[in-house]
Order: sequence, then C-alpha cells, then structure tokens
Amino acid sequence: MPANEDTSNDETSLRMKHERADSSAESSWRKMSEERPRANSSSLTLNLPGLVNGTEERQRAEKRDFRSMPRRDAHEKLFRDFFELVLQRAVFQSTSGKDRVVEWVDPYDLRSVVDLSLPAEGVSHEELLTLTRDIIKYSVKTGHPHFVNQLFSSLDPYGLLGQWLTDALNPSVYTYEVSPVFSLMEEDVLREMRAIIGWQGGEGLFCPGGSMANGYAINLARHHRYPNLKQSGLSQMPRLVVFTSEDAHYSVKKLAAFLGIGYDNVYLVKVDSRGKMMVSDLETQIAQAVKEGAAPLMVSATAGTTVIGAFDPLREIAEVCKKHGLWFHVDAAWGGGALVSGTYRDLLDGIQFADSVTWNPHKLLAAPQQCSTLLLRHEGLLQAAHGCGASYLFQNDKFYDASFDCGDRHVQCGRRADVIKFWYMWKAKGMRGFEAHVDHLFALSRHFTDLIRIRDGWHLLVEPECINVCFRYIPPSKRHLAGQELEQALHKIAPIIKERMVRAGTMLITYQTLRNMPNFFRLVLQNSGLTEVDMKFFVEEIERLAMDL
Ligand SMILES: *Cc1c(COP(=O)(O)O)cnc(C)c1O
Repeated sequence: MPANEDTSNDETSLRMKHERADSSAESSWRKMSEERPRANSSSLTLNLPGLVNGTEERQRAEKRDFRSMPRRDAHEKLFRDFFELVLQRAVFQSTSGKDRVVEWVDPYDLRSVVDLSLPAEGVSHEELLTLTRDIIKYSVKTGHPHFVNQLFSSLDPYGLLGQWLTDALNPSVYTYEVSPVFSLMEEDVLREMRAIIGWQGGEGLFCPGGSMANGYAINLARHHRYPNLKQSGLSQMPRLVVFTSEDAHYSVKKLAAFLGIGYDNVYLVKVDSRGKMMVSDLETQIAQAVKEGAAPLMVSATAGTTVIGAFDPLREIAEVCKKHGLWFHVDAAWGGGALVSGTYRDLLDGIQFADSVTWNPHKLLAAPQQCSTLLLRHEGLLQAAHGCGASYLFQNDKFYDASFDCGDRHVQCGRRADVIKFWYMWKAKGMRGFEAHVDHLFALSRHFTDLIRIRDGWHLLVEPECINVCFRYIPPSKRHLAGQELEQALHKIAPIIKERMVRAGTMLITYQTLRNMPNFFRLVLQNSGLTEVDMKFFVEEIERLAMDL
C-alpha cells in the first residue's frame, strides 16, 4: 500500500488534529470534515478499553452503521473478502465449465434456499458473504461455455473490469460537469461505430437496451416528419404505419404501441424461406396503406433476426424507402456485430443508407449487459426531438461549452455509463480483437451446422446466415414418423428436452415456435472462448437427453 494512503480512520483523525492545531490556511472543506459526525468510527467503537468480546462488538457496530460511505476500518476487509469470493466463484469457477450452468430450484422453493427476507436490523458482514455465496450458487452462470440460451453470454474480462469501474465511480452521463471523461468517451465510441457503418457525421445515443433503441428510432422518424408533434401531441396525427417483417423483434410492436401508434398500425411484411423480408410484399403493403388513407412512416428492417438470424435485403429496402419518402431504420441489435469483420460485414450491405441503426454491443460483441446504441445519420435531431431544457440541470449560462452536456438528447435523466465496459474491451483488444472474436463465432457456428447436417435424426431448418443455427432433433423412436404426426411429436419433445437439461444443469439452449412452425431449437454463440469440443458436447448432450423419448 502506498505510504501516502490512509490506512485507518485513526490516522485520519490524528492528522486532522494536527491540522486543527495548525491555524494557517485552513480550507473550508477541512472544517466541514471535522464537523462530520464520527459516532461509529473505529476510535469510538473498536478501540474501547476493556472490551470483552471484540467480535461481537464489531458485528454490532457493522449492524448499526447506516452511513453510505466506505471506510477502511469498517469495509476494507469486507470488500477484499467479497471481491475474492466473487472472483473465485462468479468469475473463474462459473466460467470454467466444470460446474453446472444452473442449480435449478422451483420458484416456490427458492425463498427457502436463499434468504431474501428484508430485515429491520441489518445483518453482519459474515452473513452478507454467506448470502453472496448463495446468490452466486443459485444464479444462472451466463458466462458458462454451455450457456447458449440467449443473444448474450460469456463474461468478457475487460468488459467486467470496465463494469466494475463504472460501479466504483457511479457516474451519471448527462452533463460534462459530472461525467467529463464519459461524455467524451461516449462521443468517441458512438462516432467510431458510425464510421464502421460508413457514415461521416451523425449522432447517437447509448440506450437501455435494443428495444428502447428501436423505440427511439420510431419517435425520431415521427419527429423528422412531424416536428410539431412534440408540442401539440397526437390528436392532429394521421394514422401512421410502421413496416417491419413478421420475423422482426417484438420491440417494434411494443414500442409502437407505447408511442401511441398501436399494434394494428405495425404492418408485418412477409419473409421468404430464409426469413428475409420480401421486398415485393413490402411494396404491396405500402400501396395498401396508402389506399387505406393511412400515412406510411418508416420501415424497420432487421439485420440478424432474433430467431433465424436472417439479414433483410437492406440495399433494396433502402431504395423502396427512398422512393416512398419513408424513414429507413435498421435493427442490427444482434447482427450489427458482424460489421467489425471484413469477412462478414457484407451481410449488412446497404446499412449505410439507413437513417437510424440499433446496434447492441452486448450481443454479438459480448460486452456485459447492458450496452446498446442508437446511431443516426442525421445531426441535431436528438436535441430537437427530445430536448426539454430543464433549467436545474442544463443551465444556459454554464462556464464551459455546454454542447458537451449530452443528457437532454436522451429521454432518460440519470443514466448509467454503459460506454466504459465497451471502451475497455475496444482498448484492450483493438478492432482486430473484435474481428477475430466475430470470425471465430461464425466459424464455430458453421462447424456446428456441418456436424448436425450429416448426423442421424438432426434436421437443419434453414441454412444459417448469421451465428444462429435452427434445428430439430428427432429421437430414434420417432424417426419412422412423417408430416403432421412428426411435427406434433417434435413440438412436444422440445420442451421435455429443455426441462431435462435445466434440471441436469448441463447446458441451456432455447426452443421456440415461429410463424406457424412447431417448436425447434436455436443455437446462438457469443462466447469466443468456445471450441469445437463444445459444439460436439451440445450435439451429444441433446442426443443423450432425448435418448428415451
Ligand atoms: C435482442 C434484440 C432486440 C432487443 O434488444 P434488448 O437489448 O434485449 O432490448 C431488438 N432487436 C433484435 C433484432 C434483437 O435481437
């Protein structure tokens, strides 16, 4: 420990006494800290003479301490013990692949296994550590190599460091005044992401998830067309229509409803056999909306659909948008990561013509949750659409250039600095690292596809474009079935396989229906620590779990 650091509050108070004696140049903060109540500091509780039971006394002191301020004497040991515990169990052990992915407990029983009760009197540090162990034990290990359940997984070491730094500094990114470094860091990261898309200027936001980013896109499209709406509200609006594919993420509908557009006015465009938006049907539906007297507003195309991983034909959709004067949004929440790869970025060809793009670094690029962005080709629209000019926060007579205060461009007020973890990863690995990560994931996904392509009982649903591999597994006893009968059997089998894998805790993969298709499984990978051995494990484990079905 550096010599000039405080090692205890005792030293601090000693030094303060000296400073008190020294009458020269006393600054006001020092006076204030003298006046700070110190009722529970160690000099009063821990060093009391004649203490019979020091441990008991310390535990009482811990319980009594309500103050939201870390002190070396009271908290340093807790921090180190906690950090060690989290490092060993939640970081290294849970990602090693040796433990289970999940210790399944039924929701009705979990409260009897983990003490979630909220006490009137605080508990001791020891009890907090015990609870921490339980929380880790019964939480799903999303960094486990066999957690392939969702569009996020893995525990990136640099991302985690950034995440911890975020929490230690606890900033709120709305003004340069309280977040100088992170205000500029956000600007730089968002600018670089736009450059990857192929844009020179523009602007962007960090958002609490891709769903919200899609909602922002709808609102911006609407503001762009109807700048007075912000003032006058919805009553004067024509019936606006948003077009997206039937395989698009549900957030387009959800946020359209939230914004007063309504489910009925989200027109779902048909997809082809590979799950890509059919441009001919888009044209038909736009014409239909016009015929109905509605006002087509925007198209939300998807680059990497959530289930199948299809890339809509962006270049052609851009043409359609241009022709009809529609806002062109690309939801690349999932597939956006492919842009960092020289090999795969062509999948998103045409994205450069978009008005707005949703891109979640917490998905394909494996930044910790949450890290989502909305990127815009336009400039000035964010302030125009969202700015409200709260005078207590965004004062117009600041002493520095207040254009660095980004908060009013968002709908949120206080906002977590989600940029730090991503910046850390980018700095540590470089663009080359991101590219290698994405290329490795694509290669593994292709390897898995080839494994199941030639294996008995396995049926690939669509030829993968992205990382997603959609498949069914037909257990030996069902292989004589065909048509409807087979489909019905498989529809029931997927949930049973899933239940067995959750109870065994050996892996987590998701199943779903889509359009009128019965249940099937979807493999998705974001953890570039995985190898071909893991792909073989997934295949053999599903076969094992389904053996007697
Ligand atoms: C995951 C996903 C979203 C939503 O992102 P969240 O961060 O989970 O809100 C939106 N669009 C697509 C295509 C997605 O896959």
